[in-house]
Amino acid sequence: MGYQITEFGQDVLDDVKRLCDRTLEAQLRAADRSGERPAEACRAASEMGIGAAFIAEEYGGAGLELQEQAAVLEELAACDAGFAVSYMANRLAQAPVEIAGSALQKKLVYDVLLDGGFAGFCLTEDQAGSDISGCRTRAVRQGDRYILDGNKLFVTNGPDAEIFVAFAVTDPDGETKESLSAFLVPGDAEGLTRGAPEHKLGIRNSGTCEISFNRVSVPAGYRIGEEGGGFSLAVRSLEQARIWCGVTALGVARRAISESTAYAKERRQFGKPLSENEVILFKLADMEMKTEAARLCCSAALERLEKGLAVTKESAIAKCLAADAAMECATEAVQIFGGYGYCEEYPVEKLLRDAKIFQIFEGTNEIQRLIVGRSLVRER
Ligand SMILES: Cc1cc2nc3c(=O)[nH]c(=O)nc-3n(C[C@H](O)[C@H](O)[C@H](O)COP(=O)(O)OP(=O)(O)OC[C@H]3O[C@@H](n4cnc5c(N)ncnc54)[C@H](O)[C@@H]3O)c2cc1C
Repeated sequence: MGYQITEFGQDVLDDVKRLCDRTLEAQLRAADRSGERPAEACRAASEMGIGAAFIAEEYGGAGLELQEQAAVLEELAACDAGFAVSYMANRLAQAPVEIAGSALQKKLVYDVLLDGGFAGFCLTEDQAGSDISGCRTRAVRQGDRYILDGNKLFVTNGPDAEIFVAFAVTDPDGETKESLSAFLVPGDAEGLTRGAPEHKLGIRNSGTCEISFNRVSVPAGYRIGEEGGGFSLAVRSLEQARIWCGVTALGVARRAISESTAYAKERRQFGKPLSENEVILFKLADMEMKTEAARLCCSAALERLEKGLAVTKESAIAKCLAADAAMECATEAVQIFGGYGYCEEYPVEKLLRDAKIFQIFEGTNEIQRLIVGRSLVRER
């Protein structure tokens, strides 16, 4: 069960598996402690062409099917969730240009990503968390340019992204859903400043910081889609990106299962391995069943996306189930490891720290449940 993979996709996946070896993991583990971007690991990933894995062939990418891209992202996340989140955030930032971008805009973003670089998606603000209609960042048209002013919070890849997609209000008096527009902003634009990286509980291999725009001027040609189309573009981008978020969470869940299974077979108490106790077997079985069910939902949502069908409900279900599976698997993994599971020396405390974010970003799981519930009420 799982993703549908072609022979070519399997070759790329095998390359990624080789990349995610013990050396890379040791570098990522060290960076998890220091909270700094693992430069060597990023270089290795860039050299194996990781950026191309998530880009269509017509734009210079590897041309993997969406299901294959999912398998690659899950593999990276099973190695290190923070590392994978950096690429997941690239996937989020590329969504608006994939949906509504011009050829120039696509080139600007894909050139960065193909080169192994990072992009950031700037939507959240202090008054715009779950409710993005609270956005206050302004973009004012002046001739053939827009001037952006405002602060964006929690931008993944913020510390070193070379390009950003920023959402700003272009019509402060208009209807909420028609007041936002989306813009590409180069990372070296004058007036763009980056806050100090956040000290996070988990996914510490992905940088997160505030991005401030102080009279940042961008050409009108950097506006993505129509003026006033930013709200629906943000919603559509997030709907797609949530599937990638789910897939990344599954990497954490899968790792928790494999670590727990190995430990349960090896650790002996009361004269036998832990795995010979039904209570432990049932825990492992529940972990596997929840993860596999969530993976099938991600896969089904990707199939719809590939066919150009709406994924509003499907992506919410996939993200929510996968994030909950990651959190439950990581919690149970710590339980199966007992006291050792609580210590840094063993791998599962990190999984627990990493898992939590998937229930929070790209729309909290409460918001996903609202989306699913509302779609039911609308459908019936
Ligand atoms: C590590 C990290 C990386 C991030 N990366 C990015 C990024 O790259 N780009 C970006 O734009 N943002 C990013 N975010 C922001 C993230 O998407 C938001 O934190 C998230 O959407 C929740 O918003 P909030 O934190 O303001 O919480 P709030 O919206 O204040 O919510 C607080 C709590 O109330 C609940 N709640 C809110 N409204 C309702 C409701 N109507 N019904 C029921 N419950 C509700 C929420 O579920 C949550 O539990 C990131 C955040 C973190 C922590």
